Amino acid sequence: MRLVNIGPLESEQPGLLVDDDRWVPLTPFLARYGVSGGMNAVLGLLPMLRDTLADWASTATSHPLEGQRLGAPVTRPRSIVAVGANTRSHVAEAAVHTGGHVAKRPMLITKAASALCGPHDPILRPSDTRKLDYETELAVVIGRAASHVTHDKAMDYVAGYMACSDVTARDIQTGEDEEADFYWQHFRSKSYSTFLPTGPWLLTTDEVHDLTKVTLQTYVNDEIRQNSDLSDLVFDVPTLIASVSECVPLLPGDILVTGSPAGVGHFMSPPGYLEPGDTLRTVVGGVGELRNRIEEAQ
Ligand code: MG
Repeated sequence: MRLVNIGPLESEQPGLLVDDDRWVPLTPFLARYGVSGGMNAVLGLLPMLRDTLADWASTATSHPLEGQRLGAPVTRPRSIVAVGANTRSHVAEAAVHTGGHVAKRPMLITKAASALCGPHDPILRPSDTRKLDYETELAVVIGRAASHVTHDKAMDYVAGYMACSDVTARDIQTGEDEEADFYWQHFRSKSYSTFLPTGPWLLTTDEVHDLTKVTLQTYVNDEIRQNSDLSDLVFDVPTLIASVSECVPLLPGDILVTGSPAGVGHFMSPPGYLEPGDTLRTVVGGVGELRNRIEEAQ
């Protein structure tokens, strides 16, 4: 199933793709069960009503996708948890900071929900950075309340997957203008508006059979910058869910951003930051592809 969020920013409504170019709004389906709300409400019902929803959608009136804006598939997570330095290749390229050592437990960072944007929205470069960077990653969307879940059961709590870019302002992140190197700013550097393009849909877990074969690729103006797959992860997805749910109770619609491979602009020589006018293409193989143009924030 490919779940989409369609409509103007902050007025999106949840839907289901029934073909590559047609969709069915899911608000009437939710109303049958006395439920209102957006994608989180759909995710809440999905574990019980998945087959019922598929049957209902097969006879519901569909609409053309053309001309519609795709929003972020999930817009109201309670938590967005990103995992830093979670691929062997990225730990190696960042050896100036990591010493080449992987962490003993997942390094958890968070991003503001207001950073979410759609798969084709512009990414806005704020005036206080000149070191805008990309990180192509798999986003995991939680489908059931998860607290202290075990590694063995962790995947039962996943609704599906999205492509995402964990956009980061490197000069802000590393506290470049600070007097001491203590003052890294992960949250600020990753939370500006539009710094988390996601989508183009939420692909349900049954559509992905081997996560380790999911590829991660980044293109900037058609130049390939990142090219890896999820076998590169230090901590796999079940380990991340078990680890995060030890300290943060997860809810349907919450998002885990699982880790970038090597090839970020910051560690290129010379660095290859994103500039206004660039087109960033974020490809998560078998899950989805984003295409976002970089623009100067007004
Ligand atoms: Mg990241």
